[in-house]
Amino acid sequence: MDAKTCLQKLQYVGVLTFATVDAEGAPQLRQISAIHYEPDALYFFTARGKAFCRQLLTDGRVQILGYTRYKEMIRLSGRATPVPDSEQKRWMDVIFAEQPYLANVYPGDTREIGIIFQIRSGEIEYFNLGVRPILRENYPLGPGKVEPKGYRITDACIGCGRCLSRCPQRCITPGKPYVIQPEYCLHCGACMEICPVQAVKRWDHNDAI
Ligand code: SF4
Ligand code: SF4
Repeated sequence: MDAKTCLQKLQYVGVLTFATVDAEGAPQLRQISAIHYEPDALYFFTARGKAFCRQLLTDGRVQILGYTRYKEMIRLSGRATPVPDSEQKRWMDVIFAEQPYLANVYPGDTREIGIIFQIRSGEIEYFNLGVRPILRENYPLGPGKVEPKGYRITDACIGCGRCLSRCPQRCITPGKPYVIQPEYCLHCGACMEICPVQAVKRWDHNDAI
């Protein structure tokens, strides 16, 4: 798996959930299918008058979520920016050609109220609950960074083994200290709760599932 394959899978899903936050910090979700995919980027259409557009122009951060029939969750966290004015028409034509229903929603010149955004940088999370052990991986999109997520075991570990016996995915390897295999970890937190010496720590920048 890689970022390019994840984008292809999102394309097969078709309708994706886009999340932003409004000016009060409240979550805002909407589903969008007016999307064009390149191997390393994603382009989408919205209208300039929509709150979604204002939120993107104000902040730019966006999360996009798709879920496949094979129980794969794919989440893209990135920053959306309008494509340059000189490229707006080109990408709008591409999206309208790929999504014929849009000509019914915005017939003729009315499409000119639209704006095309692009996402070329971010992080993609792939999370497959349809296999055992479960599988999760993270990939950068463009110059985006991948941050460690979930839990880690520190040198305070005394090797008692309680975390391994409680782990639903058995994804902790004995050693000094014990080690969590992050690609199979659910981020459930059972290991942290049961550790008698608080050797399990959360990566503090992570609030992901
Ligand atoms: S429960 Fe804590 S001390 Fe025991 S093996 Fe796991 S991390 Fe180490
Ligand atoms: S967070 Fe859950 S799945 Fe991950 S290592 Fe700990 S117990 Fe196992």
